[in-house]
Amino acid sequence: MRRSRKAKIVATLGPASSDKEEIRALFSCGADVFRLNFSHGSHEDHKARYDTIREIERELDRPIGIMADMQGPKLRIGTVRDGAVDLEAGQPFRLDLDPAVGDEKRACLPHHEIFAAISPGTSLLIDDGKLRLEVQESTPDHAITKVVTGGPLRDRKGVNLPGVILPISPLTEKDRADLEFALGLGVDWVALSFVQRPEDLTEARRLIGDRAAIMTKVEKPAALDCLPQLVALSDAMMVARGDLGVEMPPETIPARQKQIIHASRLSGVPVVVATQMLESMITAPTPTRAEASDVATAIYDGADAVMLSAETAAGDYPNEAVSIMDRIIQSTEGDPSYLGIIHARDGEAEATGADAISTAAAQVAATIATAAIVNYTMSGSTALRAARQRPNVPILVLTNELRTARRLAVLWGAHCVHTEDVSNTQEMVEKASRIAVREGFANLGDNLAITAGVPFKTPGTTNMLRIAKVDH
Ligand code: PGA
Ligand code: MN
Repeated sequence: MRRSRKAKIVATLGPASSDKEEIRALFSCGADVFRLNFSHGSHEDHKARYDTIREIERELDRPIGIMADMQGPKLRIGTVRDGAVDLEAGQPFRLDLDPAVGDEKRACLPHHEIFAAISPGTSLLIDDGKLRLEVQESTPDHAITKVVTGGPLRDRKGVNLPGVILPISPLTEKDRADLEFALGLGVDWVALSFVQRPEDLTEARRLIGDRAAIMTKVEKPAALDCLPQLVALSDAMMVARGDLGVEMPPETIPARQKQIIHASRLSGVPVVVATQMLESMITAPTPTRAEASDVATAIYDGADAVMLSAETAAGDYPNEAVSIMDRIIQSTEGDPSYLGIIHARDGEAEATGADAISTAAAQVAATIATAAIVNYTMSGSTALRAARQRPNVPILVLTNELRTARRLAVLWGAHCVHTEDVSNTQEMVEKASRIAVREGFANLGDNLAITAGVPFKTPGTTNMLRIAKVDH
């Protein structure tokens, strides 16, 4: 089973997509990576979904990526009387550490770090920015604010403090427990929320080791100030437009999206564009034209993958959302101007053997009719460099590491096959040809551009490019 597109789809699982038939349908419609969102659901829910994905993977014999998305220090207000109270603009409102149920005059904000970091004039946004409070006075255990934008204040809604760097780790106590649980399951990716500084990633890497790859969610303005360092420390990036778009004015998001994608692509680090891509499809079977255009923009920006959140986790039309996303990507990639647009922002090759070979392979594919670039790789790093070239043909990734095949499910252009390593060039050509035909990438007589490392079975040696004709 092969996809007819280069960019990938990440689908979030939730109540609307939990049983085997539902998850299998999402995969068939085009989901390449499944996201387990640890902001919701119990460990049992996530384990059940994890096991189901792996069953489907075995049945279909296709590697599937699984991402555990950590909630991170999502700041939340406490509870209020009857679940919601009305805040009126112009009125004072007190925030404190008292866990008692709140009302129109006060509520609990159970994060002492916030009281330490705010000062008169700081804005607090609640419920994705629907309510805005401005701090008038603050002490270590409470703050008096003025309601600037009023409305219903509901239980446990999220709180954002744009521009304030909070001295908190992106891994809370809950995250640490979730992380160990997710790593125990065997997830391929861990997504980290609200990363603010490079140190946040060093800490996470220390905990995760090489048990999973790390995807950094850019959703704090502070992360944009150290973007190149974050990219250098990450295995992938996510443009997390939900929270980023609350922390920063919406009109700044399109340029930020391009900046994050560009920085990631320069380093050959996969990048995912997330949130509200097909939002209206939570309740409607077709997207708005503006949403179709938004997905296409991410594709023209050169993103590796686009993500669905509530559309597949809790929406009424999860399969339709994945299907239309698949069609928008295919249609965009079919635009004759597509490759020219994404190549306009290519970076220079690095001075390494792997980059010299990857550049040459892409050049071969652009010069002679080539059915696919085939990479033999263990760690996957050759495939990352090959995809960085954004070649005009698919990249068939042959790896003896199942973990690599699963991880690279998120990578632009990559179709991964888990297979034994080869031991000589004849075997290399034969296996590449056989799998390229079997997987639907080549026919008899087609050219393949094959990259590998000699001596064989040694990681990190990519040093060979072979043009081979499929001859049987
Ligand atoms: P979330 O992250 O869905 O976990 O909030 C994505 C985003 O903020 O865009
Ligand atoms: Mn978020």
